Amino acid sequence: MSVRPVYLYNHSLLRQKTNQIDTMTDEIKQFIADMFETMNNASGIGLAANQVGDNRSIIVVDVSDTEEDEVVFPPTVFINPIIEKYSDDIIDYEEGCLSVPKLRDKVFRPDAVRVKYLDKDMNEQIIDAEGLLARVLQHEIDHLNGIYFFDRLSAVRKTLAQGKLRKIMRGDIIPDYEYLLSDIQ
Ligand SMILES: [Zn+2]
Repeated sequence: MSVRPVYLYNHSLLRQKTNQIDTMTDEIKQFIADMFETMNNASGIGLAANQVGDNRSIIVVDVSDTEEDEVVFPPTVFINPIIEKYSDDIIDYEEGCLSVPKLRDKVFRPDAVRVKYLDKDMNEQIIDAEGLLARVLQHEIDHLNGIYFFDRLSAVRKTLAQGKLRKIMRGDIIPDYEYLLSDIQ
């Protein structure tokens, strides 16, 4: 296993839609193991494949260390995840992102979602997630569609974030884990 560099805002891969996969291979198993290691190394609770430079539709989630949820949800890989249903309840919650170091802001999202995905054995699964798990799943599935959390902020909050985003692109704000700067100038 190895830690991979996290691609930072606004690398072109992070603005592209990822591709679905239909077969599990040893190479993908290794890649998923690397994703878990990269996420843990950066103390993240979610990571999308394009955040480590891969254009496949894979996310890993680990909310097992958080005390928010009463039932511990184990670290899990979600392949080709799709949100099938959103709750009517919309709540705000502060989000951050390994690709956007040191920017955090409150984002409004549905409190619960139903997600269809393939597990590590490529079996179809459906999960009804709420709370932090639902939050992370929405954030990471957004990544697979080329969307950052700050895209969902109000116009005013988005404008306030611009300065920090420019600094990340210039390399003036860097994380304390392995990273790769944007290929967009
Ligand atoms: Zn993110």
